[in-house]
Amino acid sequence: MVYRLGLFNAGRDYIGGRTRSADGLDLGAHWIHGTDGNPLAELCEKMHLELHLTGGNSTYPGGPYRIQFYDPMGPISDVSRDIAYTTYQRICHDVHEFEENLRARAKGNDMEEILADYESSLTLADAFETVVRDRYPFLHRSQAAREDLSRIRWHLQLECRDDLGEDAERLSWWYHDAAGRTEVFQGENACVSHKQGMSALTTALAKGLDIYKADPIAKVEYGLGGKQVTVTTRHNKSHTADACIVTLPIGVLQKEKDPVIFDPPLPAEKVQAIQRLGSATVNKVFLEFDRVFWPQQHYAFAYIDTDNFDDSSVSAGAVGMARDGKPAAYPRLLINYYRALGRPVLGVVCGGEDGRRIELRTMDENRDWVMRLVRRLFGPDSPMPKHVSATSWGTDPMSLGSVPCMPVGTRPDDVLVCERNHHSLIIWLV
Ligand SMILES: Cc1cc2nc3c(=O)[nH]c(=O)nc-3n(C[C@H](O)[C@H](O)[C@H](O)COP(=O)(O)OP(=O)(O)OC[C@H]3O[C@@H](n4cnc5c(N)ncnc54)[C@H](O)[C@@H]3O)c2cc1C
Repeated sequence: MVYRLGLFNAGRDYIGGRTRSADGLDLGAHWIHGTDGNPLAELCEKMHLELHLTGGNSTYPGGPYRIQFYDPMGPISDVSRDIAYTTYQRICHDVHEFEENLRARAKGNDMEEILADYESSLTLADAFETVVRDRYPFLHRSQAAREDLSRIRWHLQLECRDDLGEDAERLSWWYHDAAGRTEVFQGENACVSHKQGMSALTTALAKGLDIYKADPIAKVEYGLGGKQVTVTTRHNKSHTADACIVTLPIGVLQKEKDPVIFDPPLPAEKVQAIQRLGSATVNKVFLEFDRVFWPQQHYAFAYIDTDNFDDSSVSAGAVGMARDGKPAAYPRLLINYYRALGRPVLGVVCGGEDGRRIELRTMDENRDWVMRLVRRLFGPDSPMPKHVSATSWGTDPMSLGSVPCMPVGTRPDDVLVCERNHHSLIIWLV
């Protein structure tokens, strides 16, 4: 059977939406998380796109062992770094165990209501804090222990904000990882190397496809009883096909003003799932310099801001996070793009409150925010960048966010419900 594939990529002057490279820098997707068996890595190989391995274990960009950690006193020893990471993993394990114990206790008892309440109200930060308080009380006891706790919380913040795109204070405890549906590939992280960026993949994949860029889709009519699907643009052009995969970003699906109309309306379970899911904002700031003046051997530099640490709770005291509407004093992680791009570029990737802040600041304010960290790490005489750029995926009308996430209140099968084939119409969320 021969399929003819058409792609609607409206509102962009490039191929790919949240995959975009400009001047070799990936403004959206950058990492192939875990290369072993990852279809994206296989596609790159097929398309003869060279991959640059960045290290990592699918959890952190660059992986904990390629990151040089600092605190206000300077570089952190490998021993402190390893203790913090191992303890973080132990606490995560305990958080899962806590959940399993609760479920086991609920079985056959009258605890269903309590469980439902936990499901709909407990955040990942709440669960983490409960486990720290109950099982690791010593982490609150001395100044040194509190510093350890701040290092441990750095990992939680990085994983939630900068990886899942939302703060631990908003993510669902039980379903933050899409209820375990997230497929984690092993092996090192990688990116498409040198000058091409990830857009090389979307451009290569787009060859031979009909791509409609100018005119956004306004309406999707889908058949009942096995009929075809017709999409109509704002300028009233219609395209009919046997099936339609809707890959509109979750923020675009959720918007109330000028929404894409589905006719007949989507079933209630899909509408409710779309409304419950979150549209997380991840943004990037890039600083390009005349020369490299930082240690070249490290892929990334982490900063644990123990000066601004308040240990009363994860919500109150997560390291380096914006709190009570205040911006974080420093970004958590600085990426050395020189390793992958061969250019003197440093950058940050920030999600959650920090990611939203990037869109509220001016370019100069973003530059100064990142430069504060650069100077803290590499000295007060570090030169100013010659060029600064920043993304704004949250307010981009064709994405209205960066990635879907599972805030508190989501149900475990919300993503599955969206993806279920409904009369040749599939809503695919990534
Ligand atoms: C800052 C950032 C960093 C990321 N990092 C990574 C990473 O390292 N690794 C990773 O795997 N993923 C990452 N992602 C996620 C990844 O970019 C997305 O999962 C992926 O690009 C989604 O592809 P898509 O084709 O489904 O959606 P999109 O790429 O968003 O494509 C949807 C297209 O639909 C278009 N559109 C919108 N409305 C209409 C309309 N009404 N009519 C017609 N067209 C319309 C948009 O213009 C867009 O071109 C990141 C995303 C961001 C924003």
